[in-house]
Amino acid sequence: MSVRVSHAERLLISTIMTTNASLLTADHFAVILGFEPENSVSATPALFPFGLQFPQGHEIERHGRLKMFVSSFANDVPEPQQDRVYSQFCARYLPATVNKFLDLPPATDQLGPDEADLLQEYEASNAYLEILIQVQHLPYLYKYLRSSKEVAEPGKRLTLVLAARIAARVDCWDTMLQRWEQRDMERAGFYNSAAGCAIQLLNTLCSYQIRTDDRTSIIPSATQERMLPVLTRWAVRYNGQFLGDVCQRMLSWFSGSRAFSRGANKIRKIAKGWEVCKLPECNKKEDLKACMRCQTVRYCCTDHQKRDWSGSTGSKHKQLCFQTEY
Ligand SMILES: [Zn+2]
Ligand SMILES: [Zn+2]
Repeated sequence: MSVRVSHAERLLISTIMTTNASLLTADHFAVILGFEPENSVSATPALFPFGLQFPQGHEIERHGRLKMFVSSFANDVPEPQQDRVYSQFCARYLPATVNKFLDLPPATDQLGPDEADLLQEYEASNAYLEILIQVQHLPYLYKYLRSSKEVAEPGKRLTLVLAARIAARVDCWDTMLQRWEQRDMERAGFYNSAAGCAIQLLNTLCSYQIRTDDRTSIIPSATQERMLPVLTRWAVRYNGQFLGDVCQRMLSWFSGSRAFSRGANKIRKIAKGWEVCKLPECNKKEDLKACMRCQTVRYCCTDHQKRDWSGSTGSKHKQLCFQTEY
């Protein structure tokens, strides 16, 4: 039996979600992604009228529903609370998320003729990528990528695989964008956002690898060349929009620019919290010691660590500090 959620049901869920998104925890996201069984969380019936889990293979449906959770969460929950939930999620499930993305479970959703296109998007647009997109600005991804532990080993392939999947899609995305922009803005919006978000994450992953000088070892030149014509077109066509901006950033990385480019401020901040004392007003780079528990941030002295722990300005580290196995 199909569990596909109809358009009317979607509207109902999103209405319910908007009033309850602040109840979402890291555990809920883990259940939606299939990392924990449904009975491991107390699923408020009002929040989850259709349950949380999906029959095996319903990956397009999983992605669709996760997207609704993610967007309600982004719209209705204050940013510090979002960061706390996603940090806790990352501490426990980031390796599992990357593993699923690299080795995707088969999607066997029964789709209507109108949605069959979605199956072709699956490799470069799925629930696991969706979560990685949401957490890319948190120091946990940066920690995971530089970790030498075995559990983080698959992460070494993440940039390469994402780049290859984007390169395989860009021509189709371009065709779809041009086809739908005139006729169906919602549909065009899907492709615009799928392309923009995937390229943005790729750019983040590249920017984190600041110690690697040879950029073709991160993304092989053949893959770069496959993306280049479309990204160049989009940088112009969507100039001043999200998609245009991320293409611009990616192109400047391809061209070998050393500077973190404009718009990458959040990424710079994450790298700064590790390369430079995390306390916002301190710029020391020598003799830094990592926070013992999370090891995602470093400080020049215990006084600065204490001040950042319950921080008066910006985020409080104690809200974002979780132990990881990577
Ligand atoms: Zn300091
Ligand atoms: Zn910490």
